[in-house]
Amino acid sequence: MSRRWRALLGACAASAFFASAACDSGGGSGASSAADARALHQRLFVMDMHLDSILFTTLYGTDFSQPHPPPQGAEYFFKPPADLPGLLEGGTDAVWLGIVVFPLCEPQHCVDDARNTMRTARRVIADNGDHMQLALTSADIERIHQSGKMPALMGLEGAHGVGPDASNVNVLYEEGLRYIGLAHFTPNGYAGTNLLAALPNGGLTERGQELIQRMNRLGMIVDLAHTHPDSIRDALAISEAPMIVSHTGVRGVYDIFRNLSDDDMKAIADKGGAIGVFFASLWLAPGNESTVDTVIDHIDHVVKTVGIDHVAIGSDFDGFVKLPDDLPSAKSLPVLTERLVARGYNEKQLAKLYGQNMLRVFRDVEQTAARLRGS
Ligand SMILES: [Zn+2]
Repeated sequence: MSRRWRALLGACAASAFFASAACDSGGGSGASSAADARALHQRLFVMDMHLDSILFTTLYGTDFSQPHPPPQGAEYFFKPPADLPGLLEGGTDAVWLGIVVFPLCEPQHCVDDARNTMRTARRVIADNGDHMQLALTSADIERIHQSGKMPALMGLEGAHGVGPDASNVNVLYEEGLRYIGLAHFTPNGYAGTNLLAALPNGGLTERGQELIQRMNRLGMIVDLAHTHPDSIRDALAISEAPMIVSHTGVRGVYDIFRNLSDDDMKAIADKGGAIGVFFASLWLAPGNESTVDTVIDHIDHVVKTVGIDHVAIGSDFDGFVKLPDDLPSAKSLPVLTERLVARGYNEKQLAKLYGQNMLRVFRDVEQTAARLRGS
């Protein structure tokens, strides 16, 4: 019997997925040992808001279904990558697969690059159909999870992948894309990048505004990861739906351009959004050195600043990042829960962090789209 079936048969696990008040132990999880914390981890619905495993398939032709060593020369970053067996062993229940498009793509070809990568992602999902299935709605996520499989969704990293015409977002939506990060490492025709956060005039363009309006009507989530603070503020003013930051650190712990300021975090939370903390050492602490406790320092700061209802995880596994020494792969994810429990998080809080908050945002985005379309 798979871990998922065991989890689904447990009343607590099933209700924890469907009701936010489930399994609340009244301020403490009762997990008094590492073994209890690991059992708790297996009960939780764990949804990773951002991982780049498809990048591995497109760049190196790696087989997602098999454990494999890191590509030669990249051992420093990957030990080992987040392949399907590792994700399953580590208790990840749902994944948002990053769709990465080369930032300097020819503008008229960028959308085809995005569509090709999405085709690869859909093929990987189909090839592993015994264990995972493409999800297109929040209801799909729940249904597929109940069936014992891993719901897999697609999110674009950088709106340059939409191409020069914002209406291209329609075809990306039809082909399964469900979030778009407004920027990646370069400014594009829609938004500014936080790589240039120190420079002024990083706001949304007119096309960027149009893109958000289209996404709101489609029911597609706006992702503010990598996005210039000016564009974040413009998006907050325009978007009718809550937004996410799929993978980020916070400046309150490590003040660097890649991370989110307290003010932006508060504004995103005020709009009902979710902030996914990543495991990328380079942005978690000076010197590219971190541990699981550094990740939790960032999670803690989000919780203290905007509350438990607005925090999530977006590992950035396989995103060319050095991971914390004690969290070297998806397989080791239970260590995070173990340390979170040791630092005072209870089961209800962990259920929100690991999946419920992101699910709520997705539902809100879908409901906003239905309202805007008058249906
Ligand atoms: Zn990224």
